[in-house]
Amino acid sequence: NMAKSAEVKLAVFGKAGVGKSALVVRFLTKRFIWEYDPTLESTYRHQANIDEEVVNMEILDTAGQEDMLQREGHMRWGDGFIIVYDITDRVSFEEVAPLKGLLEEVKKPKHVTLVLVGNKADLEHARQVSTEEGERLAAELACAFYECSACTGEGAVSEAFHELCREVRRRRMVQ
Ligand code: GDP
Ligand code: MG
Repeated sequence: NMAKSAEVKLAVFGKAGVGKSALVVRFLTKRFIWEYDPTLESTYRHQANIDEEVVNMEILDTAGQEDMLQREGHMRWGDGFIIVYDITDRVSFEEVAPLKGLLEEVKKPKHVTLVLVGNKADLEHARQVSTEEGERLAAELACAFYECSACTGEGAVSEAFHELCREVRRRRMVQ
């Protein structure tokens, strides 16, 4: 009896500096790395057991310096997406909806599978985007929402990645 397994390609998008690399590294290593080359684009492989199933993830940490063509390539490549904003940076929050729009353009007519993450939840004193605003946007985009901190590990960093894998799997079953 062969064990069930799934391949899932995830790409992480969001404005430069929101903590995409820090989040990916936190998820993979449970540690926080203060400085991470902001120009570096990296792909990681990670295996996890999600709901009794082995999931082989490929995770693309985008650098945000790619041109339009490269970005579309990343969007076409991915099965699921994490859009990250920084709760202390309203501009990063305002960039979320346009990114989703672009994903829809590229994926058309396929459904865009997505989770929304508000990062840097440890910086409560500098907050510019309320939790309610994050929840409202996620409702509009019809996706799951997590506030968390790559720095302290608070919130649900792993859960965001795992839930995205689950959603990709659910979508595959109905399509
Ligand atoms: P990226 O450009 O989206 O990949 O962002 P990075 O992961 O390189 O992070 C940008 C900066 O934000 C770095 O100085 C990180 O140390 C910092 N950073 C990332 N995540 C957090 C977090 O959760 N809390 C705090 N306080 N700083 C963070
Ligand atoms: Mg980065």
